[in-house]
Order: sequence, then C-alpha cells, then structure tokens
Amino acid sequence: MNKQVYIKTYGCQMNEHDTQRMVSMLEKQGYESVDSPDAADLILVNTCSVRANPENKVYSYLGTLRPLKKRNPRLLIGVAGCVAQQVGMDLLAREPVVDMVFGPDNLFALPELVEAARGGERVCRIGWQPWDGPVREFMPDELLETGHVAGVRAYIAITKGCNNYCSFCIVPHTRGREVSRAPEGILREARAMVQAGARELWLLGQNVNSYRAADNYGFLELLDTVSQLEGLARVRFTSPHPRDWSHALSDLMAARSTLGHYVHLPFQAGSDSILKAMRRRHTIADFLEQTDYLRRVMPDVAISTDLIVGFPGESDADFEATIQVLDHVRFSQVFPFKYSPRPGTAAAKLSDDVPRDVKEARLARVIAVQERINVEQQQALVGSLQEVLIDGAHPRTPGLMNGRTAGYRAMTVAGNGLHVGDVIQARVTGFSGHWLEGRLEQRICAAGGM
Ligand code: SF4
Repeated sequence: MNKQVYIKTYGCQMNEHDTQRMVSMLEKQGYESVDSPDAADLILVNTCSVRANPENKVYSYLGTLRPLKKRNPRLLIGVAGCVAQQVGMDLLAREPVVDMVFGPDNLFALPELVEAARGGERVCRIGWQPWDGPVREFMPDELLETGHVAGVRAYIAITKGCNNYCSFCIVPHTRGREVSRAPEGILREARAMVQAGARELWLLGQNVNSYRAADNYGFLELLDTVSQLEGLARVRFTSPHPRDWSHALSDLMAARSTLGHYVHLPFQAGSDSILKAMRRRHTIADFLEQTDYLRRVMPDVAISTDLIVGFPGESDADFEATIQVLDHVRFSQVFPFKYSPRPGTAAAKLSDDVPRDVKEARLARVIAVQERINVEQQQALVGSLQEVLIDGAHPRTPGLMNGRTAGYRAMTVAGNGLHVGDVIQARVTGFSGHWLEGRLEQRICAAGGM
C-alpha cells in the first residue's frame, strides 16, 4: 500500500499551488494524497501569515494533531509556508508534535527533509536560496511536466517573491526577492497541463505583472504567448499591482478572447496619504485612470479588489475616500480586511491608532456598500447571455452544473448533456446570493476541444 500524505493549506492561491508542488514531489516518493489526516503517514500544514487570524488557526490546528501523533508515533508532521519561515526553530520548540519546519524557499528540499525526519531528526530549513539574479528557473526540471490539474483549472507560478515591501505586508520577508522564470519552462509546464486536461490556466505571482524575463520580454509578452496556446479556453492571472498595470495590458485583454474579462486589482485604500504610508507607490488617481480605461476598452470587465480598513492614521475622511472608490469602480467582489500589524513589517512600527470598534464599523460599512453594488450588478445581468466554463456538478441538485462566467462570476446552469470542461453560452435567469442562475442557450465548445 502507498504511504499516505495529507496536506492542510491556509491562505492564497500561491499556497494552493505550493501544496500541489509538494504533492507532485511526494508522489514521486511513493506517497498518495488523501483527504483526511486520520490514517496519514505524513501531515503537512502549509501556512499563511498575511493576516493574524490564519496564523492563530495554524496553532490551534496543530493542537488537534496531538492525539493522532500519540496514537501513531511513526506519523510525521511538517509545517511549511510563511509562518514556518517566520517562526523557524521556535516552532519546533513550541510544538513538540512537529518534526519538520521549512519555508517557501526550501519547498523543493521536501523529499530530503522527510528522509531526515524518518531517521529521527527534527529539522528546520528556512535559509534562502542563493540570489543569482532576477531571472531563474526555480521549478525543478523533473516537476515541469507533472503539473496538477484541479478539475478544469491549473496554476503556474511565473514569479516568486516580491520586491515591493508594502509597509503592511509580510510576503517579501517570507518569500524573498522577486525572481521571474524564463518563458521556456513556463510554456513547457503549460502544455503539460493542457495535455492533462486543464481548460483554464492561472498565471501566479505575488506581483504577477512585474514579471520580466528579458528587457524585451515582460508580462505582456508572456500573456500574449500563453493566451494563444492551443487547447486553452481561458487564461487568467493574479495578483497584478496597479503600479505595473498599463493601457497595453488592458488592450491585450480586450482583444484576446481567451483572456477572461476579469481582473483582481488590489487598491488597498482610497486616500493618497494612506497609500503613501502603505508604500504602494501609486496614487488613487493612477488607479482610477487605469480602471476607467479598462472599462472603456472592455465594458463588461469584472474587477475585484482587496482593501484594508483601519490602517494606522486612517481618518474618517480617508475612509470616506475608500467608499468613494467602491462607488466609482463598482467592483464585482471586494475582499476587505481590518488592519492588524504583522511583526517584522514597516507598518508594525506605526501606532495602531484606529480603535477596534471603529475598524469594525468601517469593515461593516464596506461590506454593506459592496453588498448593495453586488445585488445591483446581479440584477443587471438577468436576461443577459454569458460565456460559461463548466467546472463541476452541482453538489446538491442532480442535473445542475456549476461554472464561471468570463467575468469569473459563479453560476449554476441547467441544461442537458453538459460536461465539465464545456464552454457554453448561458442565459442568466436569476441569482441567489452571490451565484447567478442560468440555462444553456448554446454550446460553444465541448470539453477537450477548442
Ligand atoms: S505587492 Fe505589496 S502587498 Fe503584494 S505581495 Fe508585494 S509587498 Fe505584499
């Protein structure tokens, strides 16, 4: 029987992607990935420290693993990701059940670390790979053609790390300096994923649109190439930084049918003084100019965003500026967060001076404003035709399928003979919560063909 690995993942798509790479490496070692920790020989916890809450959840999750370790002393437990990078050896001291701690820059040492832990060592690997320039193939050759495809979607990291040092963000401290991969490896990996059944490909990077492999080959050129790969219905990317957005990128998205009409573009705050304190290096006028242009060339584009309320020094007027941006841009989705200082960041040295109840009231207001906008947008879509990529069966209602529109809105679709991977036109008949409801109007392309 194969050895079994269970991986618990916290945080963003980049972490999901790292989890898939760990699974690929462990499969080569004879492990099989399982959905429950109960019978696993190896449990890995892939952590996120962007917010305080996920970090606290990691510690309480590790507590729940103690009885498993007691029952099976052969069980190995490892902690990966950004909390591992930050806490390092202290994590081994604090959590006796943990055998391995390793940061994102040591992901590919996993097989070696498992072997050492099997030999009875408690290992910690959080050093940085040597910096040898901004362009490097960091994906091991043997993993280039083993990409995991989750349903119809696959993810490819095109950069790692970030050079921006936004003052609230821990990522540059846990993932290191930015490195871009050469396009050859990305394309090899992308083709392997299409072969394995991917219909939608996501290009990932902490600051994805600062990708640059050569003076004349940046994100625009890569996106242009990848979006023409045969067999792909859609290409998406996350997360771009407003500072690196350009009209040329908006024009390419509008012109290329495989580039979904959806962008996640974090603006974080509506006031220039707060943006400056956040070290975002763009103004709100820059952000609005780019998003206005994007809507001009692609009127049906859906734009989602991240924002922080209660950053140090945020006045009522600063917060009102954030609300004005919500009303101006009319995002399709907003991921709002209450500011909490992350140790080691520049903002952690500022006084966290917005009272908790004020932060909570601001967060509630953002949610209410966005909820109103969301209902208005869903209502406006009723009766329209949407191009939908079918990505799964409805979990409760036989005969219904789930999918995503070009604007990445979730939709349930009624219709005969629909399969995962089909691209169809669906008529929007209504909506329920954040889900559109629709019915099949016309097939554009069956699963597996373009
Ligand atoms: S761009 Fe800013 S917020 Fe995004 S990962 Fe880099 S430092 Fe963090």
